[in-house]
Amino acid sequence: MMAKLVDLLSVWVTTLLDVLFGCRHARFSFPVSPRRTVRRPQAGILTGTYVACLDCGKEFPYDWQEMKVITSPSERREYVAALAAKHAA
Ligand SMILES: [Zn+2]
Repeated sequence: MMAKLVDLLSVWVTTLLDVLFGCRHARFSFPVSPRRTVRRPQAGILTGTYVACLDCGKEFPYDWQEMKVITSPSERREYVAALAAKHAA
């Protein structure tokens, strides 16, 4: 219960900082596709590839096919839904 609240708070604070300091995640590192590493960044799970924001250091899933970075939660949900549909087919 308490941990969830802290999570929410930290997400909110990060969002606020992004707004305040203007990080729109416009500059990213080159996409990385860790295949054999044991520690897989959370961001890479969705597409298998991820990039890091050069300004704030956040990691985001990257889609090679679409050549785009998935930054918003709604885009993530779409990807999860698409993946689920692919697995079901
Ligand atoms: Zn950023």
